[in-house]
Amino acid sequence: MNTKLIIFDMDGTLYEYEGASFRQSGAYQEILKNATLFIAKKLGKTLAESEIVLKGIQERWGEQISLALEKEFQISREEYFNTVWDIPAEKYIKPNVELKPFLEKLKQKYQLAVLTDAPIVWVKNVLTALGVEQVFDDNIFDGTGNARKGNGAAFERVLSKFQLEPKECVMVGDQDNIDIEPAHLMGLFTVYINKNGQKSRQANFSIKSIFELPNVLEIKHEEILKRYFEAHRIAGTEIKALSGSSAAKTFLCDNNIYKVGSEAVIQKEIQAYGKFNARMKSYETVFPQMEIVFEDLGNSVLAIENLGKQSLEPIYRDDQLTMSRLETLNKKVLAKINLLFDETKTNIKDDLFFDELVSALKINLEKAGLSEKLSDDLKRIIEKKESILKNFVPSLAHKDLSLGNIILSDDGDKVRFIDPRVAVPYLPESKASGNVAIDLIGYRISVERKELEVRKININVDYSSLFAEIENQIKGYICAGVFTEDFKKLCEVLWYSVYSACKCDYCTASERLWLYNEMVRRLENVMEHGS
Ligand SMILES: [Mg+2]
Repeated sequence: MNTKLIIFDMDGTLYEYEGASFRQSGAYQEILKNATLFIAKKLGKTLAESEIVLKGIQERWGEQISLALEKEFQISREEYFNTVWDIPAEKYIKPNVELKPFLEKLKQKYQLAVLTDAPIVWVKNVLTALGVEQVFDDNIFDGTGNARKGNGAAFERVLSKFQLEPKECVMVGDQDNIDIEPAHLMGLFTVYINKNGQKSRQANFSIKSIFELPNVLEIKHEEILKRYFEAHRIAGTEIKALSGSSAAKTFLCDNNIYKVGSEAVIQKEIQAYGKFNARMKSYETVFPQMEIVFEDLGNSVLAIENLGKQSLEPIYRDDQLTMSRLETLNKKVLAKINLLFDETKTNIKDDLFFDELVSALKINLEKAGLSEKLSDDLKRIIEKKESILKNFVPSLAHKDLSLGNIILSDDGDKVRFIDPRVAVPYLPESKASGNVAIDLIGYRISVERKELEVRKININVDYSSLFAEIENQIKGYICAGVFTEDFKKLCEVLWYSVYSACKCDYCTASERLWLYNEMVRRLENVMEHGS
């Protein structure tokens, strides 16, 4: 995670309410009282009449009283805010002496901002009562204008001021619907605060107080694993990091494999496996067993069945390996793909997967900087939807079946698929099941890439027998009406686009630039001629 900016909601985040929510707090009761007085004075009404007016406004406009007064009674919202919201915050807020040094410490590492829908007069009073008015400098975004958090506009305002990408920002807030959901949708990292320990379904992390923030900003994966060993009195284990993103890391400890990450990330992982588990009777022969063994500070440790130490990826680099061995492994992988299809296929008509592939393709082309160049080809694919889906049998799919995601036991006997995806890369969410073509082609192109790489070292390497076997399977599916030749091409386009869009260190290393360029070349070629 490359966090540059932390955005804090104010009420309920920088301090705790005395009630369950701001609407139930003493401060808000005083604001409502002031609003009644204000309306009475401005409209020349008695207090009783004014209360009725206010109630009507709340029924029609919810909490947007200022907006209602402006639209219905032409009363400026500045006047409303400055009169009604100018209440002594210190009466309702208990300052925490640790807040200022805590924020100042964070500020040494990150830029900090406050983002609230509340009016500036209240924001100033609160920050002063908390003693942190200096900490945020000019980075205070209040509800004066029309940008609100709920529809994302307020977040856009902050991002554009700082000139940052969503993924470089963290949003911290206590309201799921206005702090977490819209920020999450825009791609910000989100941290939900709830003093009662309630959890958000969307946030990357849920914590009880702002002071737990450092624990989740930088997950010390190894520390969490050590705490698990301590708690279970497991001694003398050597921890070896295997791989992983910043969100989850995989470790080999003696003979066990652990994946460590935030609860949300690990839950997502389990869900991705879970949908296969629910549908497949041979699940255990296709995917490894796993279980959460430890939870700590919003992080989880997932123990994963250890089949062996290797994925197929380095095996293909092993020059001791004979072609007949690779052919055997290839057959095993194809058999598992077939099993996956066979046990999860449905006859429910479903064209959602096509739409999702096209959406992913658009995202990938954008990332690869090729959207404009290939826009006509993309249009052609979309127009052919009906004929592409002429024959189509949906089934669950792994959706990222590269050699790195296929592991095998040390004796080479068992083959398992790991890290299934909810959606094809880089589509954020998915509702569709899938189709076996996406895995067959994903696997084939991963082998293609490997052949290109290995040939750099040994020009005599030739995987054509592997490709012939894969093509043979593909033909069988096409003949059986599981997918069409054109859908196969769409999957090819998708996978080449994934490799063209990937900007990870491996794909963009200068010594491998030729491979990246080759993927782009193949993408353009298939888009232009194939589909
Ligand atoms: Mg709040």
